[in-house]
Amino acid sequence: MEKIGRRFQGKVAIVTASTQGIGFSIAERLGLEGASVVISSRKQNNVDKAVEKLRARGIDVLGVVCHVSNAQHRKNLIEKTVQTYGKIDVFVSNAAANPAIDAILETKESVLDKLWEINVKATILLLKDVAPHLSKGSSVVLISSIAGYQPPASMAMYGVTKTALLGLTKALASEMAPDTRVNCIAPGFVPTHFADFLTRDEDRRKHLEERTLLGRLGTTEDMAAATAFLASDDASYITGETLIVAGGMPSRL
Ligand code: NAP
Repeated sequence: MEKIGRRFQGKVAIVTASTQGIGFSIAERLGLEGASVVISSRKQNNVDKAVEKLRARGIDVLGVVCHVSNAQHRKNLIEKTVQTYGKIDVFVSNAAANPAIDAILETKESVLDKLWEINVKATILLLKDVAPHLSKGSSVVLISSIAGYQPPASMAMYGVTKTALLGLTKALASEMAPDTRVNCIAPGFVPTHFADFLTRDEDRRKHLEERTLLGRLGTTEDMAAATAFLASDDASYITGETLIVAGGMPSRL
């Protein structure tokens, strides 16, 4: 981690849902590589703590409260970013909800709405606000999931919303070319608060580890490194693609 480059020197990056877990590590990685980072999540207290941690690592950071399904919060996030930094070079859409473990046909309409709203629609609405401020050569990364390829029974509808992000990546890459590249990361299992219900139990965790070729779960830093690659000029000829970062778990050909 100490030997990383400075690929984002002079760049401005927004990462949503970034006060812990994968989003926090992405913000940290982009910041350590020189970006000014704008972090956000629903709770002011979490934003304040994350800002403190990033500043302690020498990162230039702005923290804003933003529940991604709140229009005023979205507007404020983008306005504050532009007021402070004048442009946006990297936008990472990382927020997601997984409020139920029901089968799809047993899922309440209100839960279907919430999944669609947070996991898919908020990304689109945020990008509508972000687009006018994106620089030439900018980059968008959406955070999908390995569950988007083969939605598991315990998180089927969540998986389907993540499948939608694979299509959204292709469609937006076409719409936003050539000035902005749009790519996607599909993480495998990473022990965060979000995945606690899967990784906390020892047997379940072992089963997930055995499904990888590399014999371990992912880390938030693994996801951050892959995101930083796609967001950087190292990936300047890559757009509309999804990178699976899952230790070789079964995914696609
Ligand atoms: P996490 O560790 O639980 O962190 C979630 C972060 O999102 C927190 O900072 C939380 O802060 C914020 N947040 C939650 N709801 C939000 C909302 N509606 N608006 C804005 N911020 C919100 O989660 P994670 O595991 O890093 O997950 C991040 C992304 O990776 C998600 O898109 C998830 O689907 C994807 N993913 C995760 C895994 C995995 O195994 N962990 C696998 C595949 C994909 P507040 O509580 O302050 O809002």
